[in-house]
Amino acid sequence: MPMPTSSSRKNDRHRKTEHRKLWKKVYSLEYRVDNLEKTKVIERKSRLKRHDEILKEIFDILGRECSNPDCPIPKEKMNPIALQIDHVNNDGAKDRKVYGVKATSNQYYRRILKKLKEGSKDYQTLCAYCNWVKGYEQRRSRRLK
Ligand SMILES: [Zn+2]
Repeated sequence: MPMPTSSSRKNDRHRKTEHRKLWKKVYSLEYRVDNLEKTKVIERKSRLKRHDEILKEIFDILGRECSNPDCPIPKEKMNPIALQIDHVNNDGAKDRKVYGVKATSNQYYRRILKKLKEGSKDYQTLCAYCNWVKGYEQRRSRRLK
């Protein structure tokens, strides 16, 4: 068996180092991707939790009844998940544009909550039924203009 020359040993060592480096890279990339998934789940959960908390606070202020006096759904039959936040002056779209945030984001609801705490009367609770009818009538009248 020929003895390894110093240069081939050097090459060998070099190759091993490169190999290790590559492994480190791959491993850490995989690790990061794995953790990214974990992090995403944790973030999603905490966002949802925070979302529920914000909505709870909003409805604590606005009340948990439909504001439409002609609401066809009896109070005792109203499912709380059907309650929605309505912009009294129908400027929800404008609101979102001004804020520049997605309507579903916690940031958006947080701002509504902040405004409510400051005494804003721009919002009310509507049930999904009344909110839909109101929205439909608005869209229709806009189209007829
Ligand atoms: Zn209603």
